[in-house]
Amino acid sequence: MTMKAVRMIQPGQPLEMQEIPIPSVGPQDVLVKVKAAGICHSDAHYRAGTSRVDPLPLTLGHEVAGVVAEIGAQVTGFKPGDRVCLHYLVTCGHCLYCNQGNEQFCTTGKMIGKYTDGGYAEYINIPERSVFLLPDEISFEHGAIMMCSSATSLHALNKARLQPGESVAVFGAGGLGVSAIQLAQACGAQQVFAVDIRDRKLEVARSLQATPINASLSDPVDEILRLTNGRGVDVAMELVGLPLTMKQATRSLAIKGRAALVGLSAESFAVAPYHELINKEAEIIGVSDHLAQELPRLIEWVRQGRLDLSGVVTKTIPLQASAVNAVLDQLEGFGEDVRVVITP
Ligand SMILES: [Zn+2]
Ligand SMILES: [Zn+2]
Repeated sequence: MTMKAVRMIQPGQPLEMQEIPIPSVGPQDVLVKVKAAGICHSDAHYRAGTSRVDPLPLTLGHEVAGVVAEIGAQVTGFKPGDRVCLHYLVTCGHCLYCNQGNEQFCTTGKMIGKYTDGGYAEYINIPERSVFLLPDEISFEHGAIMMCSSATSLHALNKARLQPGESVAVFGAGGLGVSAIQLAQACGAQQVFAVDIRDRKLEVARSLQATPINASLSDPVDEILRLTNGRGVDVAMELVGLPLTMKQATRSLAIKGRAALVGLSAESFAVAPYHELINKEAEIIGVSDHLAQELPRLIEWVRQGRLDLSGVVTKTIPLQASAVNAVLDQLEGFGEDVRVVITP
């Protein structure tokens, strides 16, 4: 029995369609018929070879939702026909980090679509531990994309220990930002500022009841201080991955404020320890991936419509190498404006 899969053969080359065996199902595994697989900006980095994919050839795709096709002998939580979405980490479940509930550091953890075959295929095989029921109210497309950027936004807010009534500044109002704004509101944030330089993204933020701040027109830190009567924000989320915005996020903090850094950068940024951290007991917090235990709350908030993803998916395409490569080309050109989902 074989299936179609769009796979990375070697870095820097277009993905190719291959006919490969349908994976065999281990005792604790679930075989999922893929109904939606999100094409993520990181997939463009994988194809280009700027981020390692191993082993090759490999099926990309880490944002996956579908229907259970088959279950292993020891699987108890799912049955064929169940609608599901997948946590993108395959973890051992018993190492030190897994036991602590920090399974993103699992010593043998593997991200699907990067270190093990992902969702650009007709089927994906995954341990039951990484499978979550997808309520009928949530489309497969939304079920797929929420498992990456939305989940990471929620993890960032959890890491920043956002409390009801606090204020939040979101630096970067793109794909992550749209989730971050709504999730901050769902967590009870009293005021949310959205900082970006693109009017179209700021308009989206305004439509979500965030206060837009255009960083190309004025210093966003000055604006945040002005709008908070000089106090600053309790939580700043940096989603851009630039030293400049990391610095701005830190400088915008109130006394006891927490800056959560999500965007990736290998460059350093300067901090004035006395004024920006020590004197305020402010914190800078690193955020990596997200946790399986956070997903039920995320799924419930999407089900209730508190996180509305309806404006996020721009297009769906069939499972075809040429169509997927064209989307990855676009992502390389335009950044995260494009959100396309494969519906095999
Ligand atoms: Zn992703
Ligand atoms: Zn582990």
